[in-house]
Amino acid sequence: NTFQDLGLNEDLLRAVTDLGFVTPSDVQSQAIPILLEKETDLVALAQTGTGKTAAFGFPMLQKIDIESRTTQGLILSPTRELCLQITNEMKLYGKYCKGLNVVAVYGGSSITDQARDIKKGAQIIVATPGRIKDMISRRLVDISKIEYAVLDEADEMLNMGFYEDITDILSNTPEEKCTWLFSATMPKEVSVIAKKFMENPVEITV
Ligand code: AMP
Repeated sequence: NTFQDLGLNEDLLRAVTDLGFVTPSDVQSQAIPILLEKETDLVALAQTGTGKTAAFGFPMLQKIDIESRTTQGLILSPTRELCLQITNEMKLYGKYCKGLNVVAVYGGSSITDQARDIKKGAQIIVATPGRIKDMISRRLVDISKIEYAVLDEADEMLNMGFYEDITDILSNTPEEKCTWLFSATMPKEVSVIAKKFMENPVEITV
């Protein structure tokens, strides 16, 4: 049970080695091979600290076209702190993916600066719902070509009242994309979102 067995490419395996990761975590062993092999939706019941960022981050980094500057991956997270944390991890995981741009978009910081970074060409955007919704309505971001959307800590986002924002944001993305939902708990509200935005998701529990 190694990262190599999971099917990661050379660039990502080099990053794994640099990070000192030896064994994939449970959620990584379960999610990574499926997400690499299939264009599928996924619902994962996983707490923080289980390595879930890498579980969706590595497959996203391997599947997007880094030579293109189009925004192909969108990761929604409940808070600014988590948004920055995910962005940092994605940059570490993708450190050998030449030309990769991961941009964080969150409230309480300059929208002009964030818009400028996106305009340079961000293959992946990590965002809090309120700020990206604002940027979509001002046409500062184009998520119409998204292929992979992650809802991280979905239960938290819904607790914080982001249901309508999430619905709004996802309605600006293509239907054919893959949606990967991660949540520590599975209350009714989360199942509602899963039903609304996903088709036969693979389900994993760690
Ligand atoms: P997460 O649950 O994604 O927030 O990850 C929690 C912490 O575990 C982060 O600091 C990761 O860098 C680290 N981590 C993730 N996967 C592994 C792994 N397979 N082995 C060791 N550390 C890991």
